[in-house]
Amino acid sequence: MSNPQHAFYGAVEAGGTKFVCALGEPGGPLYAQASFATTTPEETLARVADFFLEAQMRHGPVAAVGIGSFGPVHVRPGSAQYGRIARTPKLRWEGVDMLGEIGRAAGARAAIDTDVNVALLGEARHGAGVGYDDVVYVTVGTGIGAGVLANGRIVYGFAHPEVGHIHVPKPAADAAFAGVCAFHADRCVEGLASGPALQARWGTDAASLPPEHPAWTLQAHYLAALCVNLLLVSAPRRIILGGGVMAQAHLFPRVRTALRELLNGYVDFAAYAIELDDLVVPAQLGGRAGVIGALELARDSTNTRS
Ligand code: ADP
Ligand code: ZN
Repeated sequence: MSNPQHAFYGAVEAGGTKFVCALGEPGGPLYAQASFATTTPEETLARVADFFLEAQMRHGPVAAVGIGSFGPVHVRPGSAQYGRIARTPKLRWEGVDMLGEIGRAAGARAAIDTDVNVALLGEARHGAGVGYDDVVYVTVGTGIGAGVLANGRIVYGFAHPEVGHIHVPKPAADAAFAGVCAFHADRCVEGLASGPALQARWGTDAASLPPEHPAWTLQAHYLAALCVNLLLVSAPRRIILGGGVMAQAHLFPRVRTALRELLNGYVDFAAYAIELDDLVVPAQLGGRAGVIGALELARDSTNTRS
């Protein structure tokens, strides 16, 4: 049962393959949770509405709903397109008013951000970033994405960042690989180091490549190059690496070593009492980061702080 002493919120993790809906307290108990496949917008959003109807009948009304959405999505509050899905290959979803539809479905104020920014909020406040205001969260899975928290605020410009498409140098050992990014082929880190890139490069699922396979030396190089770029742009105190590919725990020491080599002494970590073991760290919340972060986003939306 819901605890009337604490405000509780709704969360929607809107993914390309599945939606997860939840009711609960940020970092606390979940009162209800459901997940279902992403199909047409009409069908999927009707299931979201059903969830909130039933869950709120049982537990009472939520104070607000937070949405972590697949992208691209318009995330600038105040813009005419705020909360809508932007131009996307998932054509049926293009232009869908995710924020308005879900807010109406739940009968509550709603706030929206990208799935990766919402996971960043979860990890920063309840996972591997606790205690720091300058944190980067990277997911290495079907795609690569990252959210940047600087001074306690998520970084945006005219749109949300697209860190997965940062360009990274390709070593000679990988010269023959064409890459998999539809836009940049082998020039961006998603094209070279996402799960599908590993699959294309080595002809087998990344999960079945043994730790001693040469794939991982290259992978560590690409992820280290990404980390160097993120480090040099925003000087985070934590770079949290999550997503399916990072289940390969042996990657962490390799990424740290490659990062040190790429930086070549340029950043004086000792002067800031920073250990690399403490800078590049695994995500702690796993699959729960999205829901926990969405609850945090909902709570933020009810605060006057903007
Ligand atoms: P998504 O990015 O779609 O949300 P995941 O973060 O689980 O989902 O990433 C899926 C990708 O991670 C797939 O490309 C898969 O091959 C890869 N992957 C999953 N488990 C492992 C593993 N144990 N080792 C390496 N790669 C993995
Ligand atoms: Zn790209």
